[in-house]
Amino acid sequence: RGRHRRLNYPCGLHPCHMMGHMSEHHTEHLFPASVYQHRLTQAATAARNAGLDGLIFGTGAELAYLTGSWISTHERLTALIIPTDGSEPTFILPAVDRGDLALSAIPELTVTVRGWVDGDNPHDLAVKALHLAPDTHPTIGLGSSLTADHVLPLQQRIGGSTVLAATVLKELFMRKAEEEITALRNAAAAIDRVFAAVPKLLQPGRSEQDVARDLNYLILKEGHAAVDFIIVGSAANGANPHHSYSDRILKAGDVVVVDIGGTYGPNYHSDCTRTFIVGGPEEQHNPDIAAMYNVLERAQAAAVAAVKPGVTAESIDRIARNIITEAGYGEQFIHRTGHGIGLSTHEEPFIMEGNHLTLEPGMAFSIEPGIYIEGQYGARIEDIVVVTETGCETLNNQPRSLQ
Ligand code: ZN
Ligand code: ZN
Repeated sequence: RGRHRRLNYPCGLHPCHMMGHMSEHHTEHLFPASVYQHRLTQAATAARNAGLDGLIFGTGAELAYLTGSWISTHERLTALIIPTDGSEPTFILPAVDRGDLALSAIPELTVTVRGWVDGDNPHDLAVKALHLAPDTHPTIGLGSSLTADHVLPLQQRIGGSTVLAATVLKELFMRKAEEEITALRNAAAAIDRVFAAVPKLLQPGRSEQDVARDLNYLILKEGHAAVDFIIVGSAANGANPHHSYSDRILKAGDVVVVDIGGTYGPNYHSDCTRTFIVGGPEEQHNPDIAAMYNVLERAQAAAVAAVKPGVTAESIDRIARNIITEAGYGEQFIHRTGHGIGLSTHEEPFIMEGNHLTLEPGMAFSIEPGIYIEGQYGARIEDIVVVTETGCETLNNQPRSLQ
């Protein structure tokens, strides 16, 4: 899907801040420090090999990948600076936020921490930490989450050129390491346990909102640290892939799209969709729905079966789309087939027309074709898959039939 409803945390805080038991959470949401130390080295090496003279990251998923930190400091510059000359990375942040470092691996990493106070110039500090040789024309990679109020003063001080760090670190971010695949597998197993309970939640007379409230509870109960989004799209609401949930009351025989996800363990995302019939499949008497769903099941299964190293991302989209189009529903499949997943719900690789990227082992993404009959109902089947040496592993394994 294009966009999931996000249940935002107040002030953009990571949920750990609100839970009040930081030390308990410290180990649970982090990999061992050696993992982050290794990633810092890999990032510096990849940047150097690509001809860059350094990297600067703001807060967000890229910083979390490299240091385990989800710190959020809003308009004040917090940045990880990685020189490519072999010297130590520097983490600069407003001094007042230093206490939050305990939630990350930073205290255990070979990283210089530099707190700044009002009156200091954080952009000067950041560029100095790159250790650039004077009178050169450096090329610096900037993190995707840095905003214009930081990018412009950084560019001015760097003087040379800037590129998006993700363009040279793509491989590193997209090819998940074993510990990341384990984290995604655990997240998927947790959301599968929630799905096992969904049929009995979908009772006539209950509203989408009632079901969403139960799902919110179950997502946390099954071990997620936070709920990411909840979609309960019954009848015509299911035909809108951007629907979240409403006060619509469920009726026996309604088609319901349930798409849910959360963050688990070291903040890896789950994201899974199944389609249900209120009251169970025996309440479904419309042959059009059965025919449509059969096409969708075939399309989703064929796309999953085609995932292997060496094929392109767009070829997977085409396989699902061709089956749906040949059956006459092409106009009703209105989004791309899938998106990468990891520390964010939507990231590269995107499984869509025009993406010539060749799939490689370790890449993790969704396969989620859908058919949306405007004004009537919708259906979607979504699994997270990880590319293996010979094919792929499907992380979600609840039944895919209309339940
Ligand atoms: Zn998805
Ligand atoms: Zn989804």
